[in-house]
Amino acid sequence: MTGAKFLSRLLIVLFLVMGVAIVVVTAMMSRPPPPKEIEIAIEQLDGAQVRVAWRSVRSLEALNFEALAGAYRDRRWQIETPGFGISYDEGVARLARRDGKPFIGVAITMEADGVRLPKEYQPLAEYGEGGVLVYTGHFHPVGKDGARLDAMFNFAAAPDAKVAAFGDHAAVMKDWKSPLAHPAFIYFGPLSPVETTHVITLIDLTAPQWIIEEFDRLTPRAFDYFATVFGASPEREVKPNLFLAARPGGNEGRLSYAGDALPGQFQITLDGAAWRTQSMQGEDIFRRSTLHEAFHLWQSASASLGGEDDAAWIHEGGADAVAVDAMVALGFWDGDDLAAFAAAARRDCAAGLNEGSLSRAEERRAFTALYACGYLIAEAVARADGTTATAFWRDFMAEAKGGGGYGDGFFFDFVAARTGDEDFSRALKEFVRMPLADPAREIDRLLAAAPRASSPLAPGERR
Ligand SMILES: [Zn+2]
Repeated sequence: MTGAKFLSRLLIVLFLVMGVAIVVVTAMMSRPPPPKEIEIAIEQLDGAQVRVAWRSVRSLEALNFEALAGAYRDRRWQIETPGFGISYDEGVARLARRDGKPFIGVAITMEADGVRLPKEYQPLAEYGEGGVLVYTGHFHPVGKDGARLDAMFNFAAAPDAKVAAFGDHAAVMKDWKSPLAHPAFIYFGPLSPVETTHVITLIDLTAPQWIIEEFDRLTPRAFDYFATVFGASPEREVKPNLFLAARPGGNEGRLSYAGDALPGQFQITLDGAAWRTQSMQGEDIFRRSTLHEAFHLWQSASASLGGEDDAAWIHEGGADAVAVDAMVALGFWDGDDLAAFAAAARRDCAAGLNEGSLSRAEERRAFTALYACGYLIAEAVARADGTTATAFWRDFMAEAKGGGGYGDGFFFDFVAARTGDEDFSRALKEFVRMPLADPAREIDRLLAAAPRASSPLAPGERR
């Protein structure tokens, strides 16, 4: 073999080896990695009924699920696989064989009910026309450390229906993982998502027409406004998904708006017959609450919402304060509306703190106080800062970025550094953590720390 011939053969062999390597690498890249721990199949059976099946790659003693209000899973889950039962350990639900033997798979069925779980993501929410919205988090098992297992989801819609998950819309989805590495809302049903410049929406057709029109008018304005104030889209990976379910029946006087926000998604459930007719009160609640939910998207994208030791009064109160600023900025509210809102918050906060401290309010299920006191604190902090709640939150979110939520200590430190007012920040800490003998007086003191000329609620004002 001549030197040249040898060289050309060597080159051919080298190219062949490289070619094979490229093919192998490409195949590895295009194939999703197998599920490391568990596969969760959610199948829509009929309307608001679903079947959930778990299959593990290795045998398990039990599947554990994070705590959920009351014994919800016990009441609502119909275990399909014989020999299994649910037990609880400090709120954590444990799905296992009754004889204690290991297993690799188990299935349940479940149907949506109309009962809202306060301060919890609704596991299943019924949508009109045979649709259902599923929150994957309540079906996603956790490990001993409380972290969610590495899971793949398979979704299947009922005949004539489809699954909608972020930008995807198909009858069946296999090996699905949230693009935001977080539990998500998944819609199963006949409705098709509508994509606009800012968002992808899915609106229940049983919603009153005026609500649908208001939603379509409000969301582009709200997202434009927040993008101007807080910077572009909250999540880079996805366009936000908004879901709206309406149950405008039942009690004639009822006007209830329940919202749940997740990274890149929020869902609204309207309850009560009073939604059927357009009213000033209905418009107010709908606009302000929708702005509140929309702002949660920016909060969660900045990691200032969603951590383990989150203090709910911070992000709920902050979202209320920013929503109220937005109501004024968008021309829906004037000074009188602001004053009325602040006066109601003062009443609700004082009532909630008569029973104990704000930091314990969630434990005693004083949820109204979290919003009302949180709002008043956001206002007081803005005054001490000589700015608005919106400007404060823009900088607070920048500070929180990269963290995974925060407790109140992070908030107090930021307030102290930002205002340079140690006395105010100490007073704020006491207001939050101590039981107060006279909550109304303490609220006035806090707001008096640095009153703004344009304040919606002057200290001591009563309405
Ligand atoms: Zn909220």
